[in-house]
Amino acid sequence: MRCLIVGGCTGGAVAPARRLKLGVSRSDTPPQIWMQRDLDRGEFGQLTTSFAIIDEDVAFLIDNGLGVQITGDAIQQAEPKQVAMFQSHYHYDHIEGMHLNPLLYRPDSPLTQFFCPKVGGVVPNQLWNERLLNTSHWPIAPKCQTSIYDFKPGASLVVFDRDILTSLQNHPGESCGYRIQLSDKKSIVIATDVELSSAYHQKNFARFVDGADFLVVECQLREGEYLGKVGVMDSPATPMIGWGHSTPEMILASLERCSEVPKSVFVTHHDSRRDQTDLRNFEGEFRSALLPLGIDCSFLYEAQDVDLDELESM
Ligand SMILES: [Zn+2]
Repeated sequence: MRCLIVGGCTGGAVAPARRLKLGVSRSDTPPQIWMQRDLDRGEFGQLTTSFAIIDEDVAFLIDNGLGVQITGDAIQQAEPKQVAMFQSHYHYDHIEGMHLNPLLYRPDSPLTQFFCPKVGGVVPNQLWNERLLNTSHWPIAPKCQTSIYDFKPGASLVVFDRDILTSLQNHPGESCGYRIQLSDKKSIVIATDVELSSAYHQKNFARFVDGADFLVVECQLREGEYLGKVGVMDSPATPMIGWGHSTPEMILASLERCSEVPKSVFVTHHDSRRDQTDLRNFEGEFRSALLPLGIDCSFLYEAQDVDLDELESM
């Protein structure tokens, strides 16, 4: 079995299920009233980033956003012999669920390795100790025997006999992309939190993903939202240049530089302010933008399993 499990694919923060809108009352007292407005994301989900790749008898867990409750649970059910964990970077929405990872609390846990890129000046051992071993932050310490390794993005790793390439990504504080070669020699790239705004970054990205079978890439913003011409949903228009996120135009410009474009593209890091109607519309716009490439594109959703074997046979 080879599959991609999506635990959470919301970017920035957990999407609130409802918001309060201040409106004018019909009567004079009180003159203003709070009205509840649902933010329906039933389809795409609310939890922050976490992915799992299950490849036969091993599993790779990428990022510890709140979706790790789902990925950790799925990994446990698949009963892999070994599990390795990777961080893309250390922004809150990618580490805030670390203490909820069920794999940490089993003495017989298959989670044996934790790979941390040297980005943002974070010291991985310190992060582990502060987040998980300090009872002021969380009452229970991990029970697993997990070794922590750090590496410079760009390094090549071999984990459980799988070749893994890594890449430094353009993001405030920097982030790391992963290209994992599966047991059947197909490859999957996880590239979340990357702003592909310049020809230099687009070229590097294209080189990294060229010829991959599956690509998980972030695309949080429309061009107008990125430039600050319009707001996301009803939020005020704010330029988000340099905030570390990409638009469909940037993804297209990057993939056009590949000699062999990835066969399937999955989009992640859905802005926490969007509802599902807006996300569906944005997915349609993304597909139209990438139409010239003639590839399959879809937005990921929470608690999704993507059967990589099935996709391969298409
Ligand atoms: Zn980030």
